[in-house]
Amino acid sequence: MRAVIAFGGNAIARSGQRGTYQEQLANIREMSAALADLVEAGVGVVITHGNGPQVGQIALQQDLASAAGIPPMPFDAAGAMSEGLIGYMLQQSLHNTFVERRMEAGCVTVITQVVVAASDPAFRNPTKPVGGFYTRPQAEELEETKGWTMVEDAGRGYRRVVPSPRPLTIVEWPSIAHLVESGAMVIAAGGGGIPVVETESESGAATLRGVEAVIDKDRASARLAALLTADVLVLLTDVEQVAVRYGTPEQRWLGRVSLDEMREHLEAGEFPPGSMGPKVESAVAFLEQGGRRAIITSVGRLVPAVLRGGGTEILPDAGSLAATGDLTGAAHG
Ligand code: ADP
Ligand code: MG
Repeated sequence: MRAVIAFGGNAIARSGQRGTYQEQLANIREMSAALADLVEAGVGVVITHGNGPQVGQIALQQDLASAAGIPPMPFDAAGAMSEGLIGYMLQQSLHNTFVERRMEAGCVTVITQVVVAASDPAFRNPTKPVGGFYTRPQAEELEETKGWTMVEDAGRGYRRVVPSPRPLTIVEWPSIAHLVESGAMVIAAGGGGIPVVETESESGAATLRGVEAVIDKDRASARLAALLTADVLVLLTDVEQVAVRYGTPEQRWLGRVSLDEMREHLEAGEFPPGSMGPKVESAVAFLEQGGRRAIITSVGRLVPAVLRGGGTEILPDAGSLAATGDLTGAAHG
């Protein structure tokens, strides 16, 4: 079985913590144990992750350091730094878990570029807040000097917002597929990947250029899972299951559901755009592109959910809902 598993950025840098290196490493150690359990059970694992807290701090460091004369790196480069940072922490933690368990397993990070359309309507309407909070005069100056779009964020001050375009394809996916084929655990598309647009060079070739935007990590994970023909896409968050009528007295948690039923809930507006909406949308998109199983659950439920079912599990049709037995047997080849 091949699984693409997406961790929220908050699984690594938790709210209520300062986000020190040691704190992040400790959080990652818990994730590594679960991932090693899956590898031991014969699952080929591709990890994706969010980077909100980390890229926010890196962007802020660029701002502060530029006052000391150090050239600030653009936002796409900050995304690459966050992929390297989180990839390094995961690689080392997983390596240590593997050697402690006497497992023969390897793990590698791929800095990942994700192609978006320059014509994506998101570029005309930036919505995703990034980085720190500013006062109104500071915000006005940043709009003028850097061309940033600044918005007032829930009474907490002004923040920069960047566009959130849709992922079209993943530049490095064939290399990622080779690595997975070779038996390596691969970490890819961190933070949703680095958004790039294709621009025609003088010779007519479609070359790439980074853009100041953020790709939704769940959407990028679904795209990667489809390109890799993964058996299962797992979107991890801080709830064990998805609910309909969430937060109301009629709230009902969803277990195993068909693609058709989930599409209906999505169209009925059950899931808010800023949180559960993109996850359900991405799970549905994966199945529409040929995926056979999508799971939304918490880190604590990851292992049983992948191996035996659990969380909110979306399957293509009613026939497959009746299917039971060893899920690892449903592997490709
Ligand atoms: P992540 O950082 O993992 O992307 P989000 O905060 O964006 O997490 O999304 C997960 C949150 O969505 C949950 O903590 C929950 O409070 C909220 N949520 C909104 N609607 C629903 C729903 N219908 N069912 C379950 N959780 C929901
Ligand atoms: Mg989210």
